Amino acid sequence: MTSSDGIGRPTSAWKNACRQFDEVAECMNLAPDMREILRRPRRSLEVSIPVRMDDDQVRVFTGWRVQHSTARGPAKGGIRYHPDVDHDEVKALAMWMAWKCAVVGIPYGGAKGGVRCDPKQMSIRELEKLTRRYTNEIINIIGPERDIPAPDVNTTPQVMAWIMDTFSMDKGFPVPGIVTGKPLQIGGSLGRNEATARGCLFTTQSAVKSLDMSMDGLRVVVEGYGNAGWNAARLFHDQGAAVVAVSDSRGGIVNENGIDPVAVRKHKDETGSVVGYAEADDIADSDLLELDCDVLMPAALGGVITAENAPRIKAKIITEAANGPTTRDADLILRDRGVFIIPDILANAGGVTVSYFEWVQGLQAFFWSEREVNLRLRDIMQRAFGHVCALSEREGVDMRTAALMLGIGRVAEAVKIRGLFP
Ligand code: NAD
Repeated sequence: MTSSDGIGRPTSAWKNACRQFDEVAECMNLAPDMREILRRPRRSLEVSIPVRMDDDQVRVFTGWRVQHSTARGPAKGGIRYHPDVDHDEVKALAMWMAWKCAVVGIPYGGAKGGVRCDPKQMSIRELEKLTRRYTNEIINIIGPERDIPAPDVNTTPQVMAWIMDTFSMDKGFPVPGIVTGKPLQIGGSLGRNEATARGCLFTTQSAVKSLDMSMDGLRVVVEGYGNAGWNAARLFHDQGAAVVAVSDSRGGIVNENGIDPVAVRKHKDETGSVVGYAEADDIADSDLLELDCDVLMPAALGGVITAENAPRIKAKIITEAANGPTTRDADLILRDRGVFIIPDILANAGGVTVSYFEWVQGLQAFFWSEREVNLRLRDIMQRAFGHVCALSEREGVDMRTAALMLGIGRVAEAVKIRGLFP
C-alpha cells in the first residue's frame, strides 16, 4: 500500500523494508525457509477504537500493534499517532525494530504500534481516551515480558503514563515495565528523552572521525524538530557544530551562520512552528534537504530521500534519525555518489537502547545516574558502529547493507537455535 507523508511525497515503507530484506537475504545467502520466517510479522493486531469526542459525537479510530519477531526477547517498539499511519507502515517499522535491537545487541524482538488519527486536532481529554482504549484493545498481547511500547511520532511521556496507568489498573497493581519513555516520576529513566538524538550524535562523531572531518564548525541540517530533531540540534550545537537549517511540518528555516537551537525551540513553543523565527530565512522542506552541508539529519517521517532528490543532495554524511527516510533507489544513488549513510537501524538505536536501560532499571527498581546512562549508551553505540563499519569493509558493502546483515543475521541465529515449535 502506498501512503503519503502529508506533503505529497509518495512513501511505501513496507515495500522498502521488504526490498531491503530480500536484497540482504540474497547477499547473506540466507536459507529459503529462514527468509520465509523472517520476512513476515509474527503477529499483527488491528483494532477499532471508539472515542466519545468533546462534542459528544463518537468517532471510531483504527489502530495496529505488530510484533515482527520475538526470537531474541520480548517485542519492543514505539507507538505512532499520525493521520497517514497505515498497517503497511506499522509492519515496516516493526520489522526495522527487530533488526535494530539486534544491531545494538539488546535482548528484544521488534514491534511497532500506530493509530490513524490527527493528534493536533484533538484535545488532551480526547487523546487520553484514545490512548486508554487503544491500550485496552491490545492489552492481551503487550506486557513487560511480552511487548513493551515506547514513544514515537506524536506520542509523548504523558501518553506513556496513560498506557502504564491503564495496564496497571487492569492488573490491579503498578506495572512500570509495561512501557518505556515514561515520565521520571513513575519510573522513567534519566537520559531517555534525548537518547535517540544522543545516539545520533555518538554515531555521527564516529563517522566524522573515520572520515577525517571535525565536529568543530560541522554544518548540520535537521529535518523535523520534535523529540529526535530538536534534541539533536541542541546536542550538535553543544559540540561546536553549526546547525544551519531545521524544519517541522509547517516548513523550514535557514541561516548560513547557524541558528541557536534553544531560541528556535522557544519560538516553536510560542508559535507552534520553527517557521517565522526572526534570525533566519524561511525555506521549503524539500529545498532544505538539498542544502550544502556536512551532515543531513532526517528526523521526521519516512520516504523523504528518493531517487528524485538523491542526485541533488550535497551532504557528506546522512544520519538517519528518522525510520526509513531513504528509499532503496535513493540509497543506491547516494552510495554511488560516495555519501556516507549512518542507517536508521544504527543511527537512531539510542532511543531503544535507553528504553532497554529504563526497563532494566524498572524491573530492578534501582535507578542509575544520567552520567551512567549516557556512558553505557556511548559504549553500545560506538561498539555497534564499529561492528557495522568492520562488516561493511570486510564484505565490501555499504553501511546499510552491513547493518541489515548484522541485524538479520543475529535474529536468524536466534530463530535457528530456538528451533521450530512444535
Ligand atoms: P515527534 O513527533 O517528536 O517529532 C516529529 C517532528 O517531525 C515534528 O517536529 C513534526 O513537525 C516534524 N514533521 C512532520 N512532518 C514533517 C514534514 N513533512 N517535514 C518536516 N518535518 C515534519 O517524533 P520523534 O519521536 O522525534 O520521531 C521522529 C522520527 O524519529 C520518526 O521517524 C521516528 O520513528 C524516529 N525515531 C524516534 C525515536 C524516539 O525515541 N522518539 C526513536 C527512534 C526513531
